Amino acid sequence: MRGLQFDATWAPRPGYQVSEFERRTHKAVTGSSVWRNPRLDLIEVPDPALGPLDVRLRPRACGVCGSDVHFYETDADGYIRYPGLTKFPVIVGHEFSAEILEVGAGVRGLRAGDLVTVEEMIWCGACVPCRNGWPNQCENLEEVGFTINGAMAEQLVVGAKYCWPITALAEAYGSADAGAEAGALCEPTSVAYNGMFVRAGGFRPGGIVAVYGTGPIGFAAIALARAAGASRVIAFEVSPVRQELARKVGADEVHNPADLAKAGASPHEMVLRASGGAGADLQVEAAGAPAITVPEMEQSLAIGGKVVIIGRAAERAPMYLEYLQTRAGQVFGAQGHSGYGTFQHVIRLMASGRVDMRPIITSRFALESAPDAVARASQRRDGKVMVKF
Ligand SMILES: [Zn+2]
Ligand SMILES: [Zn+2]
Repeated sequence: MRGLQFDATWAPRPGYQVSEFERRTHKAVTGSSVWRNPRLDLIEVPDPALGPLDVRLRPRACGVCGSDVHFYETDADGYIRYPGLTKFPVIVGHEFSAEILEVGAGVRGLRAGDLVTVEEMIWCGACVPCRNGWPNQCENLEEVGFTINGAMAEQLVVGAKYCWPITALAEAYGSADAGAEAGALCEPTSVAYNGMFVRAGGFRPGGIVAVYGTGPIGFAAIALARAAGASRVIAFEVSPVRQELARKVGADEVHNPADLAKAGASPHEMVLRASGGAGADLQVEAAGAPAITVPEMEQSLAIGGKVVIIGRAAERAPMYLEYLQTRAGQVFGAQGHSGYGTFQHVIRLMASGRVDMRPIITSRFALESAPDAVARASQRRDGKVMVKF
């Protein structure tokens, strides 16, 4: 079968301490400090083997994620920009929907022909964090398209327990194709849901929500804030295409921080203005630029306001704790999307029509041109670039 394989050279930066875990597993915990000279190719690989608790899938739609772009882009020293857990070579693709081709002998509740979406976090269920209810913090975590083969391929084998049927989406949107596209958006939408509602505990209906950075996670945060009853959703984004899409998925006002700076204004002033001086009840970091966004968020915290960090950035961000204390604020870290009904709730929201993320898809490519899809996504002109099968 063919798959879009990403490879790079293991070359820890001078001064980076390679841990015993990294040496043993060949997984880099901080990818951007270890992997150099990336290569992306559509190649022929053997069909994956099917275990008794696995399903064999034929992907139908797979989004190109910002993380995939950060594999592809390098810094001045040739290191990849993605700062997280990675093991190469790997077939990329982790935001997808697929049709089940075959189920293992021990699989119950799924059958050939079912349309599903799949968790990207392959939590083990046996380690102490998993047993304590923290699947996104699993000690034996594998990640589809990061440490094990993903969905930019003709086939993929995953554990059945990570699959969520999306027949309801095909029915709601009128065709298997539309259902497959919506299904491929469940993963990033679930990442936003996990951060805002599972980790941070959400906000009360009528609350004010600010979203910094409207890539796909930011779009999902906007749509979810609307569905959850926000009275005003304020977004910050530099790309004009994405500003427009942010309005389409439900933002009440969208500001370009660069334009604000030119006019001598700041994002936090826009949040204060929109809230009559009260500040935002929930603020979402989805820009991956906390050194810039956190100092804004801290100045527009509502009393009891929450900040949730979802965008990835392996860096320090300054925070003036006096604001956090006097406003009784809270900051939450979030990664992943597993557990706590998240996928189920996201699929229900999409099937009910209360959340429709499909407008963010602005480019579509076939598997044959998957390298072009990643290159296109790196231009940051799109909402979501989707590979269709
Ligand atoms: Zn992603
Ligand atoms: Zn675990």
